[in-house]
Amino acid sequence: MIIGCQWGDEGKGKIVDVLAEDAQLVVRYQGGANAGHTVQLPDQEFILHQIPSGILHPDKRCLIGNGVVLDAAEFLREYDALDQRGVNPKKRVGVSYGAHLVLPYHKILDQVSEDQATKKIGTTGRGIGPTYEDKVGRRGLRVGDLRHPDRTNTLIEEGIARAKSIIGEGESITDSLMEDREAFLRDSDRLVEFATDVGLEIANTLADGDSVLLEGAQGTALDVDHGTYPFVTSSNTTAGAAAIGSGIGPTMIDSVTGVVKAYTTRVGNGPLPTAFEPEMDEMIRELGGEFGATTGRPRRCGWFDGVLAKFSARVNGLTGLAVTKLDVLDTLPEVYVCTGYETQHGIIEDFPADLVELGEVKPVYEMLPGWMEPTKEIRSQEDLPRAARVFLERLEELAETSIEMVSVGPKRSQIIRF
Ligand code: GDP
Repeated sequence: MIIGCQWGDEGKGKIVDVLAEDAQLVVRYQGGANAGHTVQLPDQEFILHQIPSGILHPDKRCLIGNGVVLDAAEFLREYDALDQRGVNPKKRVGVSYGAHLVLPYHKILDQVSEDQATKKIGTTGRGIGPTYEDKVGRRGLRVGDLRHPDRTNTLIEEGIARAKSIIGEGESITDSLMEDREAFLRDSDRLVEFATDVGLEIANTLADGDSVLLEGAQGTALDVDHGTYPFVTSSNTTAGAAAIGSGIGPTMIDSVTGVVKAYTTRVGNGPLPTAFEPEMDEMIRELGGEFGATTGRPRRCGWFDGVLAKFSARVNGLTGLAVTKLDVLDTLPEVYVCTGYETQHGIIEDFPADLVELGEVKPVYEMLPGWMEPTKEIRSQEDLPRAARVFLERLEELAETSIEMVSVGPKRSQIIRF
C-alpha cells in the first residue's frame, strides 16, 4: 500500500508509477476526482484524477474500488484522453459495483454548502463531500445500480428533489439539473461496461501469486477521523481504509509505504504548524511547483514536520518511507526539521488530537546544514552528499521508520532505492 503521510500532494502518483512495475494490479480505494496525481514520463506528462497511475505501464490492470466516489463524466474523459494519447487503456480499467456515483446535483450542493459555511474548508467543489453524505445516508447511487434503470431513475429523482429543497426551485437550477441528468445517463450507459467485483479480482490476483498495489489519495492529516477535522476530506485516507475501500481483509496487506515530501505543503484551510514565512514560502512554492494538480491553487509550504511524520507512522502502521522532492531543497544553505511542538504545557512530540491545540502550537526546529549540490542525477544512496544523508537519517529517526526510496525529480528514473 502507498499512503500519503502529510496533507496530500506528497508525490504518491510518481511513487505508485515506479512501484507499479512490480505489481499486476493497481487499485484506488478512496477519495474522488478531487485527487490529482501528476506523473512525468520521458516524453509527456499525465495528470490522473481517478484512474490509478499504474495505467501508464502497458500491461497493468487498474481498478477503482468501492471506497471511491466516482465522477462518471470525468472518468470517461480521463479514459478517452489516455486512449487518444496512446496509452491504450482497453480492458485494463475496472470500476467496483459498489463505488458511489457523483451526480450533477452533488457538485451544486458542494458549492452551496461551502458558500454558506462559517468555516470554509476549501473544498474543490467536485461534489465529493455530498456524495459521501448520500452514501452514509443510504440513498446513494452505485455503479451496480446502473444496470437497473428503474432503480437508477428513482434514486436520481429523489436526489434532485432533495437538492431542490436545499438549493431552491429557481427555473435555471431546475433546467440545469435536468440537462445534467440527461448527460449523466448517457455517460452511465458507457460506465456499466467497466463494472467489476474489485475485491474478487484482488483475491484472484493474489491467489495467482501476483502482487497488488493499493494507491491512496490525499494524505493522513486529511483523514475524516484522524486528520485535522473539520479541515479534512470526506473519506478515510489512512491505511485502515484500504481494506474496506477495496474489498479485502486487512491481513492481506503486507506492506505500507508512507510517502512524505522533504518539506510540508497544505492546500485548503486549517492549521499548518511548520508554515514558512512569506518569502521562503514563495521560493519553495516556485522551486517545488506547489500548485494543485486539480485546481491550480497555490499550496502553503513549510519545513518537514517530524511530529506529523511520527503520527502518520503510527496511525498507518508504516513499514517504510518514500521521501520525495529532496531536490527541491538542493540550493538551501540550511534546512530545518520540526522535532516537537511547544505548547502551554511544555514540549510535545505526539501530534495533538485536539485541533484547537494544534492551531496554537509553536514548532521546535533543529537546523541542519544544507548540501548545496544538485541531487537530480544521483541514483544511489552512497552518492548522495553527506549533508543530504544526515538530513534523511534525521527524517527516519523522527518518523521512526526506515526509508525505502528517495525521489530526486519528477521523472520515473529519478529515484534512489535504499
Ligand atoms: P500526489 O497527488 O501525491 O501524486 O502529488 P501531486 O502529483 O499533486 O504532486 C507531486 C508533484 O511533484 C508532481 O508535479 C510531480 O511530477 C512532482 N514530483 C514528484 N516527485 C518529485 C521529486 O522527487 N522532485 C520534484 N522536483 N518533483 C517531483
